[in-house]
Amino acid sequence: MVDHNEVPHEVDVIIAGGNKGGTAGCVVAGRLAKADPSLEILVVEYGIDTKNDPKIVNPALFPALLAPDSKTARFHEAKPSENLAGRSPAVVTGACLGGGSSINFMMYTRGQSTDFDDWDTEGWNAKDLLPLFKKAS
Ligand SMILES: Cc1cc2nc3c(=O)[nH]c(=O)nc-3n(C[C@H](O)[C@H](O)[C@H](O)COP(=O)(O)OP(=O)(O)OC[C@H]3O[C@@H](n4cnc5c(N)ncnc54)[C@H](O)[C@@H]3O)c2cc1C
Repeated sequence: MVDHNEVPHEVDVIIAGGNKGGTAGCVVAGRLAKADPSLEILVVEYGIDTKNDPKIVNPALFPALLAPDSKTARFHEAKPSENLAGRSPAVVTGACLGGGSSINFMMYTRGQSTDFDDWDTEGWNAKDLLPLFKKAS
């Protein structure tokens, strides 16, 4: 949480992208803080504040977050692909405080165990990953 009255001072770690829920940045900050509670960690991020925005808290309004003139989403257009009949895939990311985790639809689905086993990589099969999936959900 930003304290605007706090006197500026040096910190040990700066993480770009994560305050309020920018997912990966928060995980990194949390892990670092747990590993060394004496660390001062500053998490900075980009975008408008979405606190109390009805579109963020009311699932019926979620689709409005993806309107072409959205101030909370950014639309990245990838290169055209033959596998998409020459079309360009659009990748949407959050462009607000909290990033994608602020505007996502909060759906969680665990993949099929055979999909992970097909990777055929030590430590990444379904049995190895299950405790981590349970921890994350
Ligand atoms: C519309 C939408 C719906 C989704 N629905 C689901 C769902 O139902 N279930 C699901 O599991 N996943 C869903 N996702 C995907 C999920 O939200 C993302 O995979 C996840 O949030 C990515 O986390 P991240 O930390 O990589 O990025 P983000 O959460 O996007 O975090 C990036 C951070 O970087 C910050 N940032 C950006 N630019 C700058 C800059 N220049 N300087 C400093 N900081 C910056 C942002 O403010 C943000 O805090 C959805 C995503 C979107 C966009």
